[in-house]
Amino acid sequence: MIEFSFKDVKNILCLGAHADDIEIGCGATLLKLIRDHDDLTIWWVVFSAEGSRSREARASAGAFLKGVSRKKVVVKQFRGSYFPFDAERIKNYFEQIGRAFQPDLVLTHYRQDRHQDHRVLSDLAWNTFRHHLILEYEIPKYDGDLGIPNVFVRLDEALCRKKVEYLHRYFPTQSSKHWFAEETFLGLMRLRGMECASPTHYAEAFHSRKLVAG
Ligand SMILES: [Zn+2]
Repeated sequence: MIEFSFKDVKNILCLGAHADDIEIGCGATLLKLIRDHDDLTIWWVVFSAEGSRSREARASAGAFLKGVSRKKVVVKQFRGSYFPFDAERIKNYFEQIGRAFQPDLVLTHYRQDRHQDHRVLSDLAWNTFRHHLILEYEIPKYDGDLGIPNVFVRLDEALCRKKVEYLHRYFPTQSSKHWFAEETFLGLMRLRGMECASPTHYAEAFHSRKLVAG
């Protein structure tokens, strides 16, 4: 299979509704991109994290983005679980991002995600970034809404384990959640690795709705 490459990607926009979404959805892919590319600009935007969750989000972003030449981490305080009712203010903020940054790659939530906050960010990403490559990451959850992804990023096991280690190190407030477990994160990446015949056994997967070939 001919492989799609991220080699021309320089500017990356990561969008996450909650403190740990970006890391869970595409943390290992970002670690790989940062390892393999010297000259990245990454904007990392978390839309809802207050108090200790905000501190966790910033500390984790700092760890994942270590070594990135140009980066911007923003943690907003939109009200969690109420994004559909706050969509006007959130859309205004998207317009601000769109005026200030032109990403080559946008990483955001899956359009069919059952979490209402996640869906709002996915929809607004498509509204704002009309001529951009958008990949939608997946978040395993109680709702059981995982789909059938169509883009796979093969990943070394070491990077996947680093992602899981960082999740546990930087998000102690989540450690009591029944789903916040090494098996959940590694298991999903192992399944996605199987689905793309990854020689390293692991992968993260994404949904692409539009991909233009040159
Ligand atoms: Zn979330």
